[in-house]
Amino acid sequence: MTTALEAYTRCTAEKCPHCAAGHPAVPDGWTLDMLSGIWELDDDVRQALPPQFHQPHFEGLGTPTSWICTACWGDGFVTGWPCEVANAHGPDVAKVLGVGWSR
Ligand SMILES: [Zn+2]
Ligand SMILES: [Zn+2]
Repeated sequence: MTTALEAYTRCTAEKCPHCAAGHPAVPDGWTLDMLSGIWELDDDVRQALPPQFHQPHFEGLGTPTSWICTACWGDGFVTGWPCEVANAHGPDVAKVLGVGWSR
C-alpha cells in the first residue's frame, strides 16, 4: 500500500535531491502537517524529502525578499523556489499547493 506521500513519479532530473536519494525518504512519523518543524531534520534529509514538501516559503526578512524552498536549505545556504525537486515534480507539488497545472 502506498500513502499519498509515497505516490510520486521518479523524475529524470540529474540534480533532483529526492530522486538521487532513491527512496521516498520520509522520516518515521513525519507528515506534511509538520512542515513548520522541518528545521529539526538534517540538511540532507530535508532536501531528499518527497516533492510535496518542497513548498514555496516567502522570505520577507532578507534583502531582497524572495521565495525560497521550505525543504532545500541548510547551514549557510537557501535555495530559491522552485528548487530542482519542485521543478522536476511540478504536478505533485502543484497538487498539494492547490494551484493549477498542466502537462
Ligand atoms: Zn525527482
Ligand atoms: Zn526544494
